[in-house]
Amino acid sequence: MPRFSVRWIVAVVLILVVGGAFFFCEYLIYYPTILKCAWPKISHARGGEGIDGRPMDSAVRAMVLSDTHLLGAVGGHWFDKLRREWQMERAFQTALWLLRPEIVFILGDIFDEGKWSSQKHWEDDVRRFHRMFRHSTDTELVVLVGNHDIGFHYEMDWFKLQRFEKVFNASSTRIVTKKGVNFLLVNSVALHGDGCPICQSVEKELIKLSRDLNCSLQNLQSGSGVMDSCEGSQLYPPTPPIMLQHYPLYRVSDAGCTGQDAAPPEERHLLFREKYDVLSKEASQRLLNWFKPRLILSGHTHSGCEVLHDNKYPEISVPSFSWRNRNNPSFILASVSPASYALSKCFLPEESTVIGVYCSAGACLLLLFLAHCLWMKGLLQCLSLCLLGKHKSL
Ligand SMILES: [Zn+2]
Ligand SMILES: [Zn+2]
Repeated sequence: MPRFSVRWIVAVVLILVVGGAFFFCEYLIYYPTILKCAWPKISHARGGEGIDGRPMDSAVRAMVLSDTHLLGAVGGHWFDKLRREWQMERAFQTALWLLRPEIVFILGDIFDEGKWSSQKHWEDDVRRFHRMFRHSTDTELVVLVGNHDIGFHYEMDWFKLQRFEKVFNASSTRIVTKKGVNFLLVNSVALHGDGCPICQSVEKELIKLSRDLNCSLQNLQSGSGVMDSCEGSQLYPPTPPIMLQHYPLYRVSDAGCTGQDAAPPEERHLLFREKYDVLSKEASQRLLNWFKPRLILSGHTHSGCEVLHDNKYPEISVPSFSWRNRNNPSFILASVSPASYALSKCFLPEESTVIGVYCSAGACLLLLFLAHCLWMKGLLQCLSLCLLGKHKSL
């Protein structure tokens, strides 16, 4: 075989192996993985009917993710930042394209260093966030505040909170209503109950929202206009809210958590610290009493868990969306009607799979190189033997 064609074959195989592995790991892998996920169906057995008794065929398609932790300028290595942000961007954009959610919630800790970043670094983080999580006008993106965005309770101040709220053009505690479903967003960083100015302001807002929601429900039950005590209150669709917040409600530990994305066994029995890992008992109970939510979705722990509070209020801990925090990030797909909901979890490609593919490609290249060397060596030996033989015969 002519020598140039061997080089060509080697070059083509090289491009196929390196290019194929890169294309698969950086683009293609997200499609088959996310294609396995589907919007859950609300069963009639679980009350999948409208408030007027008709079947609900127009549930809200809500995608919920948490703890993206876009790395900052101080603690983030440039390669780590490049890698993780690329992974999250591809996963998010593929999920948007394949699943077409109507609303996306990110449950806080959007930025890793929002709590201390300078204005210049903050603006750079925000610019990257908008690029990664770009979306069409068909999808609404709703962002909650986490301790890494504005700091833990004692690091938090008005400047950081208002800087965060200004970027996302909304208050951190409010109700978002979609297709008759009330999504209650809670700034859980401000629920220490110590009377700090931000805590007071958030509690005041929560009390108002609780009154508005209760009046909306009473309005439906009484069936005759707004009750006297509810005069001046804002009416919402008469259905208990889905509560979203960064900190989980109080629980002792993750000991009862199961599933492939629960905390590692060695961490599950570690006791949670109130106001640090989870909300205080008191703040948790107040939220439950005020809102009686039909579902709570929270982040912060970076692991998955399902908890039932007071035997009637289910809470789902949504794991981190970043491969920096988990080998197997995921997000929640929620179909929510005013009377019911159904949830499913969509796992993203595992980091170990990607590393495995790159290692296999590397091993293939090594084998190819060795085979090429042996083949060339064999060819040279053959040629020298032939030449030697001809020489002898002369
Ligand atoms: Zn976090
Ligand atoms: Zn957090």
